[in-house]
Amino acid sequence: MKESIERQVEMLKNCMKNDLMDMIRIPALGPENGGDGEMERAAFLMDLIKDFGFDSVERYDAPDPRVSSGKRPNIVAIKKGTAGKSVVILVHMDIVPEGDLWDTDPYEPVFRDGKIYGRGTEDNGQEIMAALYAAKALHETGEEHGYDLKVVMVSDEETGSEYGVEHLLKKDIFGEDDLIIAPDHSEKNGKFVEITEKSGLWVKITCTGKQGHAAMPGGTVNSNRYMAEYQYRADLALKEKFGKVVNDLFSPSFSTFEPTKREGNVPNVNTIPGKDVQYFDCRVLPEVSLSSVKKVFEGTAEELESKAEFKIEYVMESQAPPGTPEDSEVMVKLSKAVERVTGHHPAPVGIGGGTVAAHFRKRGLPAVVWCSNHNKAHQPNEYAVLDNMVRDCKVFCSLVLND
Ligand SMILES: [Zn+2]
Repeated sequence: MKESIERQVEMLKNCMKNDLMDMIRIPALGPENGGDGEMERAAFLMDLIKDFGFDSVERYDAPDPRVSSGKRPNIVAIKKGTAGKSVVILVHMDIVPEGDLWDTDPYEPVFRDGKIYGRGTEDNGQEIMAALYAAKALHETGEEHGYDLKVVMVSDEETGSEYGVEHLLKKDIFGEDDLIIAPDHSEKNGKFVEITEKSGLWVKITCTGKQGHAAMPGGTVNSNRYMAEYQYRADLALKEKFGKVVNDLFSPSFSTFEPTKREGNVPNVNTIPGKDVQYFDCRVLPEVSLSSVKKVFEGTAEELESKAEFKIEYVMESQAPPGTPEDSEVMVKLSKAVERVTGHHPAPVGIGGGTVAAHFRKRGLPAVVWCSNHNKAHQPNEYAVLDNMVRDCKVFCSLVLND
């Protein structure tokens, strides 16, 4: 990549670090997480980027009476290029609660051994700064670039995206030609680009029998026993039906169907339970339809209906949209930029589910998830690696320059 830009980003390293630390001192928790939203942090960022060289900075606030400002801010900052196409870097301002087990104050960041510790440093502060400083570096070197750099900073990523990405998608902020990158997750410190995800299905199975004394089982219907049978049968049937469908982008490369939570039944040993509740967590390859999975759960219930009553409910259901193609412009150009900066060509990969990219893919907009990090999001002692922030900033510059 261009030496002048590389040098400029290196020179900005300390400012990047200090600005990230200042931002972390302003918590941005959504109301679902007991916070007052992102407004104060948004004001800090709007002020910060005044002289970063953006041609336009606009706010698209979503009304939300639960926060004191009444609004959830979303910022779209654009630095114009010459090609009439945009690289969109989508980052989120909100954070998750700090939780416990921290060694330092999560909102008084500490810099130690090249790492910045604090809640929201990695998720997603590091990439907010990397994206904004890409604009600053390009501005300060005066380098001409092809793509527009569009940095989109959203609210509400951690609690559903209704006041963030979904609000912006209704406003037509994004175009079909945009190269959309959400730097919010990574595998192996940026060696993989996430282009597809599994569907998710949470199934609640309620077995109703007839309660009674354990010493006299006659006349009772033991829900525990029939739930065990249900679980065994469903487990086998799911493996048999879907176990051979494989997609090597994923690890594991097949759909998974795990019996997980079991609700408590009777409190004492000598009562036969009349009701049992069991859940399954299913992560399903995008090429398998959720309706075919549901058929197995419902069919198993029918097989056992002469023994006990079964009720099947779907407490979470999220059909994965088609993945972003490996030969899409965003995948190809991003991979080249990563290679130019790091020397590694990242591989495409699928993940277990639930990234912000799905909001775009559902609307036919190709989006990828990539960044360099250590997967410390949502953990105590979360940290961002300063060199990763600098490196990703260079990748964004290289991508926009298309050099
Ligand atoms: Zn995040």
